[in-house]
Amino acid sequence: MNAPNARDTFRLALPTPAGELRAEIAVPTRLIQVSDIVPVMRSLSEQALVLEEKKHERVGETPSCHKGCAACCRMLVPVSPPEAFALKKTVDQLPAAQRDRILQRLATLQHTLNEAGLLGRLVQLSETRTQLSDEDMEPVNREYYARRLPCPFLDDDVCSLYEARPAACRELLVTSPAEWCQEMDNNPVRTVPVPFRVGTALSLLWATITGGVARLIPLPVALDWAERHAGENSVRHNGATLLQMGVEKILGLLRHKA
Ligand code: SF4
Repeated sequence: MNAPNARDTFRLALPTPAGELRAEIAVPTRLIQVSDIVPVMRSLSEQALVLEEKKHERVGETPSCHKGCAACCRMLVPVSPPEAFALKKTVDQLPAAQRDRILQRLATLQHTLNEAGLLGRLVQLSETRTQLSDEDMEPVNREYYARRLPCPFLDDDVCSLYEARPAACRELLVTSPAEWCQEMDNNPVRTVPVPFRVGTALSLLWATITGGVARLIPLPVALDWAERHAGENSVRHNGATLLQMGVEKILGLLRHKA
């Protein structure tokens, strides 16, 4: 029988636009839920983004993002199903006072969205059986951003779940002046290109496992979605198989970009 914390280590090489990413990744040898693969997949994305950042730094483009800015925390954040489960687990395990504060802010946000006629659309998007493109999401993204509604995880303009924040939050690195982000519609905001969107890779992985569409769930309804679909995350998989599937999805995204 394997020890509960036993891990298998794999060496990977990913051909990213900024050069080959070589990584050593450890996954549990025991059977795991698909949400357990999230930290591993995110670490690959972060390492790929570091390569891209270094490439940009060589031509004098350094990220201007800084603690307390939080302009991007007023955009509609897309969350992959495995991340939604992981986020719910994180929130459930918070100290009661912090969890209650977050859930209260989430309830207020949902009330505001409902009044604006947006909440039902976000729930519909989270449950869609149709494959949606970025273009399909554009109108609701714009309507949401126009309201500048702060993310319920923000505490004094600092992310209170920084270590557990979704991949989409990690991937937005701006190199133009930070103040331009206050008005993204009217400023030519420059960003570090994302080698591959790990949220998309995780969505594709989820779609393969469940036989559904590759969905991205709007953050304001992600915890509710995870609760409604909890049973689907109770299925256990071999960790190495999940990693292999996740890496195949990443390679597919990299090929598509090339
Ligand atoms: S999860 Fe954190 S980083 Fe992402 S939008 Fe919310 S507060 Fe900002």
